Amino acid sequence: MENFKEILKKYLSFKTVSTDKNYQKEILACVQFLKALLEKNKFKTKIISNFGNPLVLAELNNQAKETILIYGHYDVQPAAKEDGWRNDPFSLFEDKNKFYGRGVVDNKGQNLIHLYTLFKLNQENNLGYNIKVLLEGNEETGSEKLEKFLKTYKNLLKADAILISDGEIVDHLPIIDAGFRGVINLEITFQTAKYDFHSGLYGGVIPNSLHETIKILNTFFDSTDKVLINGFYKGIEPIDKKIILNNKKIPFDENKFKKTSGIKKLFTQDLDFYTKTGLWATLQLTGLSGGYTGEGFRNSVPAKTIVKINIRFVENQSVKEIIKSLKQHLKKVSHSYVNYEIKVKEIAPAVKLELNNKYVQKAKELLKIVFKQEPVFKFSGGGLPIVAYFKKILKIPQVLVPLANEDCNMHSVNENFDKKLIEKGLKFSYLYFKK
Ligand SMILES: [Zn+2]
Repeated sequence: MENFKEILKKYLSFKTVSTDKNYQKEILACVQFLKALLEKNKFKTKIISNFGNPLVLAELNNQAKETILIYGHYDVQPAAKEDGWRNDPFSLFEDKNKFYGRGVVDNKGQNLIHLYTLFKLNQENNLGYNIKVLLEGNEETGSEKLEKFLKTYKNLLKADAILISDGEIVDHLPIIDAGFRGVINLEITFQTAKYDFHSGLYGGVIPNSLHETIKILNTFFDSTDKVLINGFYKGIEPIDKKIILNNKKIPFDENKFKKTSGIKKLFTQDLDFYTKTGLWATLQLTGLSGGYTGEGFRNSVPAKTIVKINIRFVENQSVKEIIKSLKQHLKKVSHSYVNYEIKVKEIAPAVKLELNNKYVQKAKELLKIVFKQEPVFKFSGGGLPIVAYFKKILKIPQVLVPLANEDCNMHSVNENFDKKLIEKGLKFSYLYFKK
């Protein structure tokens, strides 16, 4: 563990913030650090630079029968001490139970668990697989060019299975991810005039873009937030009873959740929490702007309103169909004197994973040994876009084993990794890859 900590400390010290162009130097330095670390441990490496931030590809041919590809990302979310961190976020710090720092779980700490284990097993001459490693630097910005990269380097990435550790366990239960929902982010601009008008001179006579927008949005949902757009849920397959039973077993303390969040009501009358967030579609209004929101009042009739929308959908649904149904709905409910324009900004695919294979089975058995608890398969509301591309392009089994603690504060201040879970992760990884 001591040596693991030293490497982690160095790894975390690079400010590899991919959402901000000012960190390019740090990103390149981190790539060099990874390259040197892998080469020191007998991996052959290749840096690929023309698909966004450099990708680190590494390979260790062990003359084994099977090859496992490890995926992880070295880029991180922004972080600054002023945001409320107890210490400098880019300098690893610890207390009795936890390590802290930006990237400690998302994802540097989690990919290092596997790298560290592989180095160790190779030294002991006890590595049971050939290994390929893919570390990318654009996960936090949506892995936009990764699909193209995978298509181009398909042969180089050839493997029998992929292992990924990202995300969190639930309570104390080990988790194997079963799938992720897809994402559509879009904006709708509603316009009723070329400019704003005096509300005293024109109010009540001319259409108000805010009023019209609210009337339109009001037709989107019923009282329990079910989406009323015709065709929105099209393609969702009936959910297997076994999956629902499994989901109900995943701990979710509703009372505690309500108490800590201030939320008074959950719309779970139709489906339980995990089924609804993992296997059902949703449309969320995520932003609304129009009129004057500054100090005091500006008495005018707004001409333009912008609505931001986030849609989550499941694998068998079609993005095209969803957008088409939204367009048809708008056509139906908006008056001819309201102009609107839809701009689709971001799309990430949904994916359901194949779990019936020996690689997932092996993870399940070993997690049970390490955690002394039966692992659960979990469908997650949001996840890694690359998993869908791996499925589509490489077409090999994927084993997704998140190792972080539930209160890890990923993407927030004081991101942390429970030391006991690092130990468990290292143990799991060791058992998985050994001869
Ligand atoms: Zn992240």
